[in-house]
Amino acid sequence: MKRIVTKFGGSSLADSGQFRKVRDIIRRDPARVYAVPSAPGRRFSGDEKVTDLLYRCFHLREAGSDWSEVFETISERFRSIHTDLNLTVDLEGALAQVRMNIAAGASADYCASRGEYLNGLLLADYLGWRFMDAAKVIFFDAAGTFDSEKTNVVMMALLADGLPTVVPGFYGVKPDGSIHTFSRGGSDITGAIVARAVRADTYENWTDVNGFLMADPRVVENPQGISAITYAELRELSYMGASVLHEDAMFPVHKVGIPTIIKDTNEPDQPGTLISLALPVEPTVPTITGIAGKKGFSVVAVEKAMMNAELGFGRRVLQVFEEAGISFEHMPSGIDSISVVVSGEALAPHREEIVRRIAELTQPDSLTIHDNMSIIATVGRGMVNNCGTAARLFSAMSRAGVNVRMMDQGSSELSIIVGVDDADFEKTIQAIYHEFVG
Ligand code: ASP
Repeated sequence: MKRIVTKFGGSSLADSGQFRKVRDIIRRDPARVYAVPSAPGRRFSGDEKVTDLLYRCFHLREAGSDWSEVFETISERFRSIHTDLNLTVDLEGALAQVRMNIAAGASADYCASRGEYLNGLLLADYLGWRFMDAAKVIFFDAAGTFDSEKTNVVMMALLADGLPTVVPGFYGVKPDGSIHTFSRGGSDITGAIVARAVRADTYENWTDVNGFLMADPRVVENPQGISAITYAELRELSYMGASVLHEDAMFPVHKVGIPTIIKDTNEPDQPGTLISLALPVEPTVPTITGIAGKKGFSVVAVEKAMMNAELGFGRRVLQVFEEAGISFEHMPSGIDSISVVVSGEALAPHREEIVRRIAELTQPDSLTIHDNMSIIATVGRGMVNNCGTAARLFSAMSRAGVNVRMMDQGSSELSIIVGVDDADFEKTIQAIYHEFVG
């Protein structure tokens, strides 16, 4: 039997009207038998997410200030859903318990997780489904690292009966019984974990956008949507900052080859974006799938004649960054030079020490740092074996008057990465987009 795991984001479950849309979506396909809710999100611009309000309760209590008013605001959000939908679950009892635990000194993670917990209770009641507390099926170790294997074994066993079930997103439990959360936006991860455990056919991630766009709409006017993308392509794009999905949410489903689909709760008939392990590379596949980039990188360029013959040269350069606790993003190299691209922000406090240590360890002929560089990745499985893509990309950039400061194409041919001055960031993305998409 086909099984679909659905995850609904905060705006998809922000009020009773949104709950109704969610139930309609679920009822349209009998294969939708698992739901992972977020906490109620924003209902309108300027509104506050319940998770933010819960963190505020925690901080007010820590500061010895009164948090009862904020807690009342949270309670009212849940009460209005409960009343509008004529629910019968004991919401007041659950709220009283949460209030008592916060008063008794509950942790920030416990406080934050209650948005998903309470929303899960309401959703399970509304759908007439079983509620499975994430604290029973999602495990972390004492240090807070997600315990994927234990989670998978326990969750598989508890969900094996195939009963329709709601598992609240975002949190789980540590060995001492305390609640622990994923990082913000972590309900996406819970959804992927449930999909893996039940061997779902599809993981549907319902949100408030119709999938991914080929470029950031703040940079390119009205960019086209991406109808299908591979996990590897998405990884490259989200590394560069294009994000609709929590990055860690790809891993559990990617590993077992379950496709994810991003859909819009408010426009369920729109196609959304399908993310899968492998997609056919037919001639109809567009050459590029998407473009994304980030500003604010620095390039540390080290030059030394005959560097290629000097054993351990690259290792010593990288050792300096490791000692300073800076991870590098790229490392294009020439015959007698290596450039290490790092975040400008991460480099700033260690600048002098890095220069001194590289000089000490490698005695370079020259060492320069270029700041304010943007990195832009043009990603596309259609680029493989497609001659002339790089030529088109670089001539589009040159026509736009952009000077290429760095370039890098991995042997996977999945992306072409260029470095340009921050001032050329927008111009570059627009030029590439218009060259390939029109
Ligand atoms: N409610 C949590 C947050 O706002 C988790 C989530 O929505 O995915 O970050």
